[in-house]
Amino acid sequence: MQVNTARLSAEINALSLISDAEPPAVTRIVFSERDHEAREWLKSRYREAGLEVREDPVGNTFARWPGASTQLPAIATGSHVDAIPHAGKYDGVVGVLGALEAIRTLQQNGFQPTRSIEIVQFTAEEPTRFGIGCIGSRLMSGTLDAASADALRDKQDQSLHNLRHNSGFSGDLAATRMLPGHYAGFVELHIEQGPFLERDGISIGAVTHIAAPATLRITFEGEGGHAGGRLMPGRRDSFCAAAEAVLAVERAALFTGAIDTVATVGTCEIYPGAVNSIPSRVRIEADIRDIEETRRDEVIAKIKTAVGEISVRRNVAANIQMLNADPPAACAPQIVSTIERVCQTEQISCKRMVSRAYHDSLFMARICPVAMIFIPCRDGVSHRPDEYASPKAIEAGVRVLAGTLSDLAS
Ligand SMILES: [Zn+2]
Repeated sequence: MQVNTARLSAEINALSLISDAEPPAVTRIVFSERDHEAREWLKSRYREAGLEVREDPVGNTFARWPGASTQLPAIATGSHVDAIPHAGKYDGVVGVLGALEAIRTLQQNGFQPTRSIEIVQFTAEEPTRFGIGCIGSRLMSGTLDAASADALRDKQDQSLHNLRHNSGFSGDLAATRMLPGHYAGFVELHIEQGPFLERDGISIGAVTHIAAPATLRITFEGEGGHAGGRLMPGRRDSFCAAAEAVLAVERAALFTGAIDTVATVGTCEIYPGAVNSIPSRVRIEADIRDIEETRRDEVIAKIKTAVGEISVRRNVAANIQMLNADPPAACAPQIVSTIERVCQTEQISCKRMVSRAYHDSLFMARICPVAMIFIPCRDGVSHRPDEYASPKAIEAGVRVLAGTLSDLAS
């Protein structure tokens, strides 16, 4: 199979210029002017390839290459094109334009799909605007209900409901929902956003599991006071309690002994936040990830126990709020095997791996068998203007995607 790498590279560059940031940085926030422009540009590309384009009420866009048996569930592929502020040009885009190139490659090879092949361009994979990611795929899979989604607000206090209507996406959000069985499978091509493929000199990662984060907000409430006036005995310093909790989070993750368990405290707010004042209240947030839900939940349970113990011992009130806890997903073994088989045929090196970032595939896994194809990106860098995947790496990804789609759609 001959992939038109020059055309694909040119399209990736063209799309990167539809941006609110100066090149090479890309900023494309959902429902912005630039997002609208990118959507229109992509729809023209889909139509040029003879695909049937449809949009749902949240702006998820579908471009279908009809198969011979239109009554059979289609095979879906795709990703997102929204970009966080000052991001690069490859995250998500490789999975959308790469899917289009895979379809064009199959068309040029005279392949006739039995099942339809459909590109899905998901709305708001990035949490930039509404504080929650994967809004399009959460709605499609029933993970987020229509009313809660419409009520989401951005920092300017504009509701998703109004923003989507202003962008031309009307209708009841409930209509975005897809029932299990709607698709026969979903395959997402994506840059790795990690260093392992490049380090090992391997072209393709066949993703077997997608880790999912649980986020805990832990608040300690002690007693403030003058840093000089109040002596050490009997203090109820909430920051000292939080400091112990941070170490307890680390310990809980290390305790599992599993390389796939990770836990991080990434935020800390101290009140009142003055050098001469004992912290009266501290809020930290912990992100806990694993590919196994029960193991992740054990870590969470350990953290809760530790926080309770710290609270009693230090006489500081503690409150734990679970902000989210999406279950991790396992990829479909038969699609993972298909990817490996295609790599073998195409003589492309491949290894199985875990996705530690989450993607729309995590939510698609609730309604159909999924798999992901990872390609290396330079130094594992992503979400930065210097994010880079070589044309050769992308070409290999598209070839494997095309082979996988043709197998699944035959
Ligand atoms: Zn992405």
